[in-house]
Amino acid sequence: MNLVLMGLPGAGKGTQAERIVAQYGIPHISTGDMFRAAMKEGTELGLQAKSFMDKGELVPDEVTIGIVRERLSKEDCQAGLMLDGFPRTVPQAEALEQILEGLNKKIDYVINIDVDKEILMERLTGRRICKNCGATYHLVFNPPANEGVCDRCGGELYQRADDNAETVQNRLDVNIQQSQPLLDFYNEKGYLRTIDGQQDIEKVFAEIELLLGGLK
Ligand code: AMP
Repeated sequence: MNLVLMGLPGAGKGTQAERIVAQYGIPHISTGDMFRAAMKEGTELGLQAKSFMDKGELVPDEVTIGIVRERLSKEDCQAGLMLDGFPRTVPQAEALEQILEGLNKKIDYVINIDVDKEILMERLTGRRICKNCGATYHLVFNPPANEGVCDRCGGELYQRADDNAETVQNRLDVNIQQSQPLLDFYNEKGYLRTIDGQQDIEKVFAEIELLLGGLK
């Protein structure tokens, strides 16, 4: 089972990724996580990636494709894999086709978790975080018992600077612009499956399971 998971920030991609990995036992390959790990370890790759990530820019294709090629050749990818955060560009998608072909594999599905932009705005701007313990809340979907106060530790809740409406709008617009050519690419290839991400978490996962149930 070889999957690519797509979805805009706030669409619930992380939550569904965790469930897919737990259910099907395939490795979760996130290029963002790989870059963050490399940065933490202070490797050459980490240093290369840092300057781009700090500016919120994409790491160059040749670097990103290189780490994915290496990762996909590992033993644990034999029985399947789930990519998250890769590909982000059409050249990356084309490179992925070649890498998989070389390994005698192909993508089964590109799962796009689809949520309207207005709802994503609401989900992202409503997020509140505890200054003290880092617990996260949502003003509408997961509010604390007492406004502005953490249920867990009593700490003060705040809004992250990059969760304000203007920044969120900008982040979404950039993501929409980047992902559209990929959605078109995979739609043409017949891999794309769109799942309604506006349903509750269980329903979204049930649809994914239904889709994947047809695969070995
Ligand atoms: P993420 O955790 O997926 O949001 O990725 C965090 C950052 O890592 C991005 O803002 C990029 O700087 C970098 N990154 C992750 N995946 C890719 C990719 N496929 N291509 C280029 N840069 C990436």
